[in-house]
Amino acid sequence: ISIPVKIDFLAISSFSGGASGASHGMVRIAKDLDDSIQDEDVLLVEDIVDTGLTTRYLLQTLAGRGPRSLGICTLLDRAVRRIVQVPVDFRCFEIPDRFVVGCGLDYKQLYRNLPYIAVLKPGTDEAVTPVPGKSR
Ligand code: 5GP
Repeated sequence: ISIPVKIDFLAISSFSGGASGASHGMVRIAKDLDDSIQDEDVLLVEDIVDTGLTTRYLLQTLAGRGPRSLGICTLLDRAVRRIVQVPVDFRCFEIPDRFVVGCGLDYKQLYRNLPYIAVLKPGTDEAVTPVPGKSR
């Protein structure tokens, strides 16, 4: 993005279990944005949109704060598992129905530092296989 941008972060905790990645939409903001987004053009940057429940919660929450516009960008899109439709404006890769790690995504807090996206070796906690993606 070559125009001046402000970058802010929020942390959410979703009540998920195991390697399913499913949040069931039960999400809470653990750390809120530092600044107001009123009258700002806002782009929500996601790691992965899976069921869409987390993103929908965030969209509804942020929309209530009066931004001028609100868009969604995600590194990974696993559309095959979508439960609620969310308007993804920009996606880097659509991925198949496999739990992935790397590039910030964890499994039990491990593998966030992998410089590529990988899947876990079946039956193990070992992340080895880079996952194929369909770039859009
Ligand atoms: P959703 O609410 O769309 O089902 O899930 C969104 C969140 O679940 C993501 O922001 C991410 O934290 C987590 N998640 C979903 N799928 C995966 C996955 O394959 N790997 C990891 N590490 N986290 C995932």
